[in-house]
Amino acid sequence: MYKLVQPPLLFESSRAGRGTAVLPPCDVPDRPLDELIPADQQRLTPPPLPELGELDVVRHYTNLSTLNMSIDSNFYPLGSCTMKYNPKRNERLAALPGLLAQHPYQDESTLQGLLAILYDLQEILAEIAGLDAVSLQPAAGAQGELTALLVAARYFREKGDSRSQVLIPDSAHGTNPASAHLSGFDAVTIKSDGRGLVDLEDFKAKLSDQTAVFMMTNPNTAGLFDPQVREIADLLHARGGLLYLDGANMNAILGVVRPGDMGVDLMHYNPHKTFSGPHGGGGPGAGPIAVRDRLAPFLPAPIVARKAGGEYYLDHDRPHSIGRVRSFFGNTGVLFRAYCYIRSQGPQGLKRIAQHAVLNANYLKALVDDVYPVPYDGPCMHEFVASARTFAKDKGVRAMDIAKRLIDYNVHAPTIYFPLIVSEALMIEPTETESRETLESFAEILLAIAAEDPETLHRAPHTTPISRPDEVKAAKQPVLSWQG
Ligand SMILES: *Cc1c(COP(=O)(O)O)cnc(C)c1O
Repeated sequence: MYKLVQPPLLFESSRAGRGTAVLPPCDVPDRPLDELIPADQQRLTPPPLPELGELDVVRHYTNLSTLNMSIDSNFYPLGSCTMKYNPKRNERLAALPGLLAQHPYQDESTLQGLLAILYDLQEILAEIAGLDAVSLQPAAGAQGELTALLVAARYFREKGDSRSQVLIPDSAHGTNPASAHLSGFDAVTIKSDGRGLVDLEDFKAKLSDQTAVFMMTNPNTAGLFDPQVREIADLLHARGGLLYLDGANMNAILGVVRPGDMGVDLMHYNPHKTFSGPHGGGGPGAGPIAVRDRLAPFLPAPIVARKAGGEYYLDHDRPHSIGRVRSFFGNTGVLFRAYCYIRSQGPQGLKRIAQHAVLNANYLKALVDDVYPVPYDGPCMHEFVASARTFAKDKGVRAMDIAKRLIDYNVHAPTIYFPLIVSEALMIEPTETESRETLESFAEILLAIAAEDPETLHRAPHTTPISRPDEVKAAKQPVLSWQG
């Protein structure tokens, strides 16, 4: 195994006088510089830009790009993130000039094609959700949560009801309590039971007339479908509360179960997860929300609407709306890719996605769970959470060491240390787009790593230019500029 050397920075490769720009003599009439730029705003020395040949620059960036892990180059079992294949056809369609060259300030009459697509997407997302109305505006799942909770808050306020609490399971994604807090509610934690599901007794104990919303992820972050959902919905509704679904795990139930039928009143989608929008670099995403009839008046304005004559328009005339949560139409690039994905699959295809995602996760789980125990028994949905607890106890090897070592085998690490209810968690989501061979080879790698000596694992990765940066420092004190 060889270690990559860290490529030099462009600044370090710079040679004075080298360059590629060959500019013709300036044909703009010469004017004194002071007339163009006030003297006190002119710099005294030229900026220290690197000087390089074009080929050096091309190689530099091309080689840097190969240091990235990506869906197109590596298996990427990042739990909860649904890193499925991003069909290239969707990229081509999204780049069609008729779509790409549009400007949000164009007159609506010239945006009819785009508005028709967005309108259709609203309808489709409502149908998949089994709910009545959709807003495409939120820019990510987290913003969808916030928007939906603001909708709920407005709904209660207009009823003169001052409920103050949002209940959230301890297995939830961190964005759930953050959204509850930002929208003015108090977040109340509900425990998980020994099966990794909502602890029904704890839920009943904390449910009250102060409960505005219960935020549920189903299947939950342990990859388990909570069959108590209908009972929970009934109890909640009887007290006047609303059931929210964190839809990040829709990949497991697409076309199989409609959230509305589970008793869900409002939810968000993550099109960059479920509907194949590329999101390896952290964005962009989208976070459409779907809600029941009685919440629809409060959705962000505008929404895409259709006149009796068939013409599409942006409906701003929504007096009860919470207002805008994002500029223009939402992240249309991501929404459009989601639309292409859904339309190319069709209803049967969507259902097969969920079935194959669940099958792949269960197959992979069966290949590794002797060595990487999964604390919650039984079949999983689209992902499973294994624990490295026994390695930690026996050999001092932690989930982090396993994740880092996987890089040496050219595999992206699974999500680790989430959900918080599993210690030394390795959250593995293979998605439906991986072949049986890829799953088997990943299982072999995991088993091989389990047999390696702790020292090798503590020092992994061995094959990257940088091995283990201080992650807290890297996030809190990033060095973003070159100092010569
Ligand atoms: C990804 C995720 C979110 C947040 O969605 P973003 O689109 O990343 O903002 C919320 N909940 C769960 C369970 C998730 O996996």
